[in-house]
Amino acid sequence: MNVYDSNRMADVLRPLGYESTDTAEDADMVILNTCHIREKATDKVFSDLGRLRPLKTKKEQSGGKMIMAVAGCVAQAEGDFILKRAPYVDMVFGPQTYHELPEMVAKAIGAYGEARIVNTDFPLESKFDSLPEEQATHGPSAFLSIQEGCDKFCTFCVVPYTRGAEYSRPATAIIDEAKRLADNGAVEITLLGQNVNAYHGDGPNGKTWALADLIDAIAQISNIARIRYTTSHPRDMDESLIQAHGIDKLQPFLHLPVQSGSDKILEAMNRKHTRDLYFDVIERLRVVRPDITFSSDFIIGFPGETEKDFVETLDLIERVKLVSAYSFKFSPRPGTPAANMKNLVRDDIASERLARLQTLVNAQQTAFNKSCEGRILPVLFDRRGKRKGQLMGRTAYNQSVYVEAPESAFNTIRDVFIENGFDNSMQGRINEFNTPSA
Ligand code: SAH
Ligand code: SF4
Repeated sequence: MNVYDSNRMADVLRPLGYESTDTAEDADMVILNTCHIREKATDKVFSDLGRLRPLKTKKEQSGGKMIMAVAGCVAQAEGDFILKRAPYVDMVFGPQTYHELPEMVAKAIGAYGEARIVNTDFPLESKFDSLPEEQATHGPSAFLSIQEGCDKFCTFCVVPYTRGAEYSRPATAIIDEAKRLADNGAVEITLLGQNVNAYHGDGPNGKTWALADLIDAIAQISNIARIRYTTSHPRDMDESLIQAHGIDKLQPFLHLPVQSGSDKILEAMNRKHTRDLYFDVIERLRVVRPDITFSSDFIIGFPGETEKDFVETLDLIERVKLVSAYSFKFSPRPGTPAANMKNLVRDDIASERLARLQTLVNAQQTAFNKSCEGRILPVLFDRRGKRKGQLMGRTAYNQSVYVEAPESAFNTIRDVFIENGFDNSMQGRINEFNTPSA
């Protein structure tokens, strides 16, 4: 979502004469768009600020200016702290205010070095109502924010505090945006939200639309070949969404975070579902789309997690079989209920559990990649590889694939014969070019 937000900030700033630079040295304004989900993200903001500061000083010594801004959820949660700790920062603004950038920038330039802008409001009017139409070229794979914020209040999570209450954009605005993205060359659209499957937006005809209705409508756009959505919550996988997985364009890969395989820990996390519900959702999805693959998120060492709880998490992974996963040690976030919980898990124990979980997930990931050897899979090539003549893309199941192929394959979907499945990627060949294997 930060990638999407950053693109939209560029859209807002373009009419003011700003364009993106390749390096911070060339910039008259640097915006760090930040994430607050775990502690390390905040630390990184401060180390990046420290690294950028000499550039600002250098610019000023030669008579120039460099506006330095911190945006996003760290700005939202720690605005005052940033101003105190980094006195050279000119603007701090939260994720719901970036449509107000023209006013903020004008003020920051007018009072350069004298006054600092802080904007961490949750405006009554959604930013989506006043953002300009997107102008940046996004390539063949585009993000589209449809929902923001969260009302679920998992006990470990800062999102409800930093992104605010749940909000769904109206369906027509989303479909119009999808059509424009398609006109600009997008063939894959990833619908975004912190809780994307809680989507319930105003639909045409005064009806409320669910995510399944949106997917159905976007699938009608002929140039769009692939649809994905992220991040979803197991509790919001309703029957209509499960059935939507029968739509061919909806890719057979779902990121469905579960966090823990222990009912006791799920309850302490306030996830509002059991491990059995998770298995049930996965099974129902496999009925509708037998080849669907899954990834998940896990928090290890949540307060009170015993070895038995952790083994239940490993058991869940064994049963579901994942093609990838993100896993993190619990990080206490200020202001969340879990930050005050007792029964902390010792850090060395949490590290050891994290390593065991990652070994299991990596083995499953490698096994899946190997199982693709000899198959022909469609791949959307949207990146260049490290070597000259190499293109990279993703399968429908979301693995990176690289091939040797002519430039004409760039930005297109091609059938690829998979020759090798590795730990983190696959290598293949596009038969129609008859290229020798790498
Ligand atoms: N809305 C999604 C998750 C959004 S946050 C959901 O409900 O699953 C993205 C991921 O960051 C989470 O899935 C979780 O695994 C991780 N995360 C969030 N807060 C965390 C914390 N305090 N400590 C460690 N990991 C955390
Ligand atoms: Fe955070 Fe996701 Fe829970 Fe919302 S549902 S509080 S975004 S982890």
